[in-house]
Amino acid sequence: VPANSPNSERRSGDPAWILGVDIGGTNIVVGAVPFEGADAQGVKSMPTQPERGADSVVARVAEMVNETVAWLEREHGASRDTIAGVGIGSPGPLNRAKGIVINTPNLGWRDFPLRDLVSEAVGFQATLDNDANCATFGEWWMGAGRSYDNLVGMTLGTGIGGGMVLNGELVHGASDSAGEIGHMTVDLTGRKCKCGNYGCLEAYCSGPNIAARAVEGLDIAENSILSELVGGDLEQITAATVYEAAIRNDRYANEVLAETAKILAAGVGNIINVLNPQAIVIFGGVTRAGDHLFVPLRAEIRRRAFRSAADACAILPAALPDTAGVVGAAGVFKKTVFGRV
Ligand SMILES: [Zn+2]
Repeated sequence: VPANSPNSERRSGDPAWILGVDIGGTNIVVGAVPFEGADAQGVKSMPTQPERGADSVVARVAEMVNETVAWLEREHGASRDTIAGVGIGSPGPLNRAKGIVINTPNLGWRDFPLRDLVSEAVGFQATLDNDANCATFGEWWMGAGRSYDNLVGMTLGTGIGGGMVLNGELVHGASDSAGEIGHMTVDLTGRKCKCGNYGCLEAYCSGPNIAARAVEGLDIAENSILSELVGGDLEQITAATVYEAAIRNDRYANEVLAETAKILAAGVGNIINVLNPQAIVIFGGVTRAGDHLFVPLRAEIRRRAFRSAADACAILPAALPDTAGVVGAAGVFKKTVFGRV
């Protein structure tokens, strides 16, 4: 029986709600998650605006949490004492035990005591975990990974993040940095990565890098509509432009995606050979490329990974693309404070 099967019924004395907070480089998302587990409700999103400073982000998180509490009181007649607390997901690396974000290039934070500042501002107990871990835990608890005990999550966006649930538990490693799938080396002498290393998976397959690779090869591409789609201003080409061109049967855009699938498959194949998971759940804008990415990806994985491991592993788009981080942050809170989900 998977650890997340409906054995997570409410027990008498259990709270009714957990609040989930997902802090990203672009948006903050907050919602209320039923204690026994379900998709988030009363979900709100606001721009993170990290340039206004860390304290301003905390103030906005507190405001959104307070609005969600007011929403629960209004819509569900919930009182504050039926709310267990707040689970927070944030980019890392971080120290979970201390509730500190050690360093986030995208937000500009260093040794920032995020958990306790939010907790003090809203008057609830809080927990902190990595955003990709939370998204993976959310998909495992209530999303595409519900029927699996061994699951890997991959977020393909501005960067590439990852999370691992093995035997029903999130894997954190010795210093909370396990699951950095985006920074596995796929080419020893390859493209420079933001982390300082060369040839990381992220340096090829993150959204900005898919776009950069498309632009780099464009001058020798024949009859591509990519340039036309951005009115000739190549700096405007994003990964989404590449997907759109591919969907419109642009040969060059499809070549870029086939190459992306090939590199991604090298990374995913490594994960499959090392961990033998039942599923890999993929999040992010890249899933909008649909079959133009997933068909070559699945084919290439079968060529690269051990057959029995590839056969056992489903490659799935996320079922909760907008709320997995919120649901998972609440799930991590429940697991941490109550010892179960
Ligand atoms: Zn890297």
